[in-house]
Amino acid sequence: MIKIPTHILLVDDEKDFVEMLALRLNETGEKVTPAYDGQMGLDILKRENIDVVILDIKMPGMDGIQVLREIKSLYPLVEVILLTGHGSAETAVEGMKLGAFDYLLKPADADELTAKLQGAREKKEAQEERIRKAEVRLLLRKGGNI
Ligand SMILES: [Mg+2]
Repeated sequence: MIKIPTHILLVDDEKDFVEMLALRLNETGEKVTPAYDGQMGLDILKRENIDVVILDIKMPGMDGIQVLREIKSLYPLVEVILLTGHGSAETAVEGMKLGAFDYLLKPADADELTAKLQGAREKKEAQEERIRKAEVRLLLRKGGNI
């Protein structure tokens, strides 16, 4: 079966880390768009069809939690996986209460990342499928009233 790539937006202010992780994800067949700060990430979300955002919490300017709030208010179906150091795991849990799918401790273990990405994508697809079915039901009901 042909794998449909997950379109991932990777937002982190550490360029080396972004490049390394993007390379790794590309090798596993995913499509990655990099961003180096929160605003850049939000601009990309505006014009590209992103499935999952991998989002660093500690960034200069807009931090990851602020970016997460924006994403969840503008694109509620986009799933977010937070990236954090050991020092800010509590912030990551707060982020999950704001709608993040999960979080990962840096430097992001490959297997753990793969599993969480898959979980995030499945959650998004299941929700989109429920919405499609609800829309069909709505159309059928409207049709019945004609
Ligand atoms: Mg950072």
